[in-house]
Amino acid sequence: MSASDGLLTETADVLLAALERADDGIVIVDSAHRITHFNAAAERIWKLARADVLGRDADLLTLKCLQADPVAEFRDEIGLVRRDGSRIRAAISVSSLASGGVTHHVVFARDVTAEAERRARIALLDAVSDQTNRAVLITDPGLNIRYTNAAFTALFGYTAAEAEGRRATDLLAGRHTKRSLLTTIGRRLIKGGPGGEAEVLIYTKDGEEIWVSARVDAFRDRKGRLRHIFALLDDITETRQLRSLQQLIMGALADEVPIGEIADRLCRRVEEIAPEIVCSLLHVDAAGLVHPLGGPSLPDDYSRALDGVAIGPDVGSCGTAAFYGEPVLAIDLDTDPRWQPYKAMPLAIGLRACWSTPVKAKDGRVIATFAFYYREPRAPSNWHRRIVEACVDLAAFAIERKEARAEIARLAYHDILTGLPNRAQLRHLITTAIDACPTGSHVALAFLDVDHFKDVNDTLGHAAGDELLIQLAQRLREQIGPEDMLGRLGGDEFVILLPQRNAERAERVAAGITEALAAPFRLGSRQLQMSASIGISLYPDHATDIDTLMQQADAAMYMAKQAGRSTHRLFSAEMNGLTEQRLALIAALRRAIAEGALSLSYQPQIRSCDGAVHGVEALARWHDAELGDVSPARFIPLAEDCGLIEQIGLWSVREACRQMASWRRAGLEIPCVSVNLSPINFRNVTLAARLKDILAEHDLPADALMLEITEGAFMQDSVAALETMNAIRKLGVGLSVDDFGTGYSSLSRLAHLPIRELKIDRSFMRDIEKDAGALAIATAVVRVGQGLGMTVVAEGVETEGQRRTLAELGCDVVQGFLYSPALPPVAFERWLIEYCAEQATAMLGRLDVAPAGRDAMKRSA
Ligand code: C2E
Ligand code: CA
Ligand code: CA
Repeated sequence: MSASDGLLTETADVLLAALERADDGIVIVDSAHRITHFNAAAERIWKLARADVLGRDADLLTLKCLQADPVAEFRDEIGLVRRDGSRIRAAISVSSLASGGVTHHVVFARDVTAEAERRARIALLDAVSDQTNRAVLITDPGLNIRYTNAAFTALFGYTAAEAEGRRATDLLAGRHTKRSLLTTIGRRLIKGGPGGEAEVLIYTKDGEEIWVSARVDAFRDRKGRLRHIFALLDDITETRQLRSLQQLIMGALADEVPIGEIADRLCRRVEEIAPEIVCSLLHVDAAGLVHPLGGPSLPDDYSRALDGVAIGPDVGSCGTAAFYGEPVLAIDLDTDPRWQPYKAMPLAIGLRACWSTPVKAKDGRVIATFAFYYREPRAPSNWHRRIVEACVDLAAFAIERKEARAEIARLAYHDILTGLPNRAQLRHLITTAIDACPTGSHVALAFLDVDHFKDVNDTLGHAAGDELLIQLAQRLREQIGPEDMLGRLGGDEFVILLPQRNAERAERVAAGITEALAAPFRLGSRQLQMSASIGISLYPDHATDIDTLMQQADAAMYMAKQAGRSTHRLFSAEMNGLTEQRLALIAALRRAIAEGALSLSYQPQIRSCDGAVHGVEALARWHDAELGDVSPARFIPLAEDCGLIEQIGLWSVREACRQMASWRRAGLEIPCVSVNLSPINFRNVTLAARLKDILAEHDLPADALMLEITEGAFMQDSVAALETMNAIRKLGVGLSVDDFGTGYSSLSRLAHLPIRELKIDRSFMRDIEKDAGALAIATAVVRVGQGLGMTVVAEGVETEGQRRTLAELGCDVVQGFLYSPALPPVAFERWLIEYCAEQATAMLGRLDVAPAGRDAMKRSA
C-alpha cells in the first residue's frame, strides 16, 4: 500500500466516523440498489438495525423516490411509514454521486415530526387569530416583531412580512406616543412582573394617529424566562373621542362655564372629530322660540336670522325636530319642502343637508336641537349617529342645569308673586344708586306698607290677597319714572327707590301714590278701597349707609301709620325716639336671657317615604310679661345687631340637647334635633369644641344634632366660618342650609362645603302646585341636593296637595303646619304619641290585621 493509499484510507475512516456521528440519518445505496451504508441516526429513524439492512435491497426503506428508475434527485418532507407500522414526518433528500462510472445514491433523512406538529399548531393559531378583529402582535424580549395577525394588517397597514423583524416601538410609535407607558410595562415584564393595560396613541403606516387599548403580557418558558411579549390591541379612537366629548362638557359644567361657551366648545369638538360636519346647538324656550346657543362655524348673520324663529311642523330641520320631538333629516335643503322659506342662507354658505336631533329635558320637553349640517346632500353616517347619542344627554344636562340656575337666580332676586325685585336684589339696587349719586344730589328711599291688608287676607282669603298685591304693584309702577325702582320686601311691604330726588320731589311722588291708591280696586265682582302708609328717608341728608336709611324709612312709615294712615312722612331726627324703643327691647331681651325666659318649641320633620319622624326643629320662643309673645323674626335680628346672638345660639344648642337627652331617657326615640344658628355663631372658632362638650355632657351621639344655617354663613367667604364648619362636620354633627333658594349660592360651591341637608325655603311652597316656576325650582333643588348626596327638606308644607307634589318629586323630608306647628315640649310629646298611634293604625290597616289581633296588640302595647 502506497503512502497516498494509506492517507486515503485514513481520510475514508475519518469520513465514515463523521457520517456515523451525524445528526441526520445517512444511507448510501449502490447502483445495484443495495444498501451499502446505514448510520446510527438512520437506525433511529427507520427503527432498523444496521446488521439487518446492509447489503439488502433499498426497497426496505419504503422510499418512493428511490424506487424510480433512474433514481432522481429529491428533496422534500414526506410521511414515512416504518417497518413497525409507526409513522413520522421526515425531511428526505436524495442526491446521486457518480464516481468512476458508478452511481451511488446518498439519502439524508431527518425526523421533523415535532417541528411539523408545531407548524400545524401555529397555522391553526394563525387561522384563529386572523378571525379576531383585535390586532395581535408578538415580539421577542428585544421587542422585535415575530408575529402579527390579519387584524393588525387591517388596522395599521403593515403586512406580516413588513412588520416581522422590525422593533415594535420603531414601527408604531410616533410624535405623540407616550413611550414611557410602554417601557414601564416592558420593564415590569422583564423583571417577571405581570402584564398590563394601557391606552396609547400610535401611528399607522400612513402616519394616521389611532388610539388603541393595549393588553400586554408575556410568554415565559418553564424556568420563567421571558420568551415572547404579546399584545392585544383594540382601536378605541371613537370610544375615546366620545369620552373626550363627555369630559369636555362635564369639565366645563364643573368650572361653571356659561352655557353658550359650553355649546361652542361642544360644537368645535364635534367638528374636530367629524370634520365633514358643521355643528350647531339651538335653545328652545318655553314659548317655543329658538335661540342660538352655539355654532361657532356658522356665520353670525345666519345665527342671528335663526334667533326668535318659532318652531313648527315645517320649519327647517331644527324647528320641525323641536316641534315633533323627533330627529329630522333633510338630505337636500334645495328640494326639501320644509326648508323652502329658509334655504337661501344655508345654500349661500355652501350647506346642502341638515340633520337635527331634539334635545329633551328629563320631563320630555324639547329644550334644544342639535344640528349637523353637511356640505353635500347626504345622510348622517353611523359615526355621526354615535356622536349625537353621546352628546344629546349631556347637552340636555347642561341646558337643564342652566335653566335651573337661572330660575334659582331669578327667584333669589325676585318676588315670585309680583315679579318685582326682592329684598336681596333691592339692597343691590340701593347700593348701586347711592354709588352713582353725584355730589350735591340725593337718593330718596320710600317704604310703603298697605293699610289693613291683613283684613283682606283674613276675610277674602289668600288668593284674593295675592291678586290685590299684584294690582297694587301695577298701580305703584305707574306712579314712578323709568329710572325709579319698585321692589317688594315681603308681605304687604314695598320699597320705592327714587334716584336724583330731593325731599320735596320725593314727597310729591308719595302724595301722587296716595292719590292713585284712592281709586277702588276690583277683585272679581268686589270693589275694594285701599290705602297705604309711606315713610321716606334721604341719602345723604339722613344717613349714608343702607341699613340706617332703611331703618329710617321704616321709622317714618311707622309715623305715617300713627298719623292715621293713607299718608306719608319724611324721616326727621325726632323719630330717633324709636331707637329708644329699640334700646328698651334689647334691654328686655338681655333680661329674658339672664332670667331664662326664652324657651324652645319643637316642630316635627316627617320622612316622605314612610311617614316616620325624621327629626325635630327647635325654634326659639320669647314670652315677655309686658310685651307678650315676641316673634323670633323680631328678636333674632335684634340679637344679631347687639351681640346677644352668640349667647342665644349656645343656649339653644344646650337646651335642645338637654331636651333630647331627657326624651331619650323617657323612651321617646327622636332621631335628630335641628337647631338654628346665626352666621355670627360660625365666626367663633371654638364653636366645634363647645358642641363636643355639650354632646358629651348629655351623652348624646353627634348625629343627634343638626345645625341650620342660612346661606349668608358661607357666602361671606370667611375662612373662620369654613374652618368652623369643617370642624363641626368632622365631629359628626350635621349642617343644614336653611331657607335655601332665597340667597344665591353657587351650586358648585355647595358641593365643596361639608353640608348634609338642604331646606327648601317655605316661600316656594305656596305656589308649588300651580306655578310651574316654583315647581321647577323645587325640582331643581331636590335633584341638585340629591345629586350632591344631601337630604332635602321642604319647610312650610301646609296642605296635602303640597305634600303629595313633594313626595312625587322625591323630596326626602317635609315639615310644616300640615303636621304640626312648633310646640312646647309637653305639647309636642302629646302630638308625637298621637301621631305614632295613627301611623301604627294605618299600618295595621294596610296589613289587614283582624280586629281581634288588633285588640291583642293594643293590650300588649
Ligand atoms: P326658620 O328657621 O325658617 O323657621 C321656620 C319658620 O317657619 C318658623 O317660624 C316656623 O314656625 C314657621 N313655619 C313652620 N311651618 C310652617 C308652615 O307650614 N307655614 C308657615 N307659614 N310657617 C311655618 P318662627 O318660629 O317664627 O321662626 C322664624 C325665624 O326665626 C326662623 O325661621 C329662624 O330663622 C329664626 N329663629 C327661630 N329660632 C331661632 C334660634 O333659636 N336661633 C336663631 N339664630 N334663629 C332662630
Ligand atoms: Ca330653620
Ligand atoms: Ca327656614
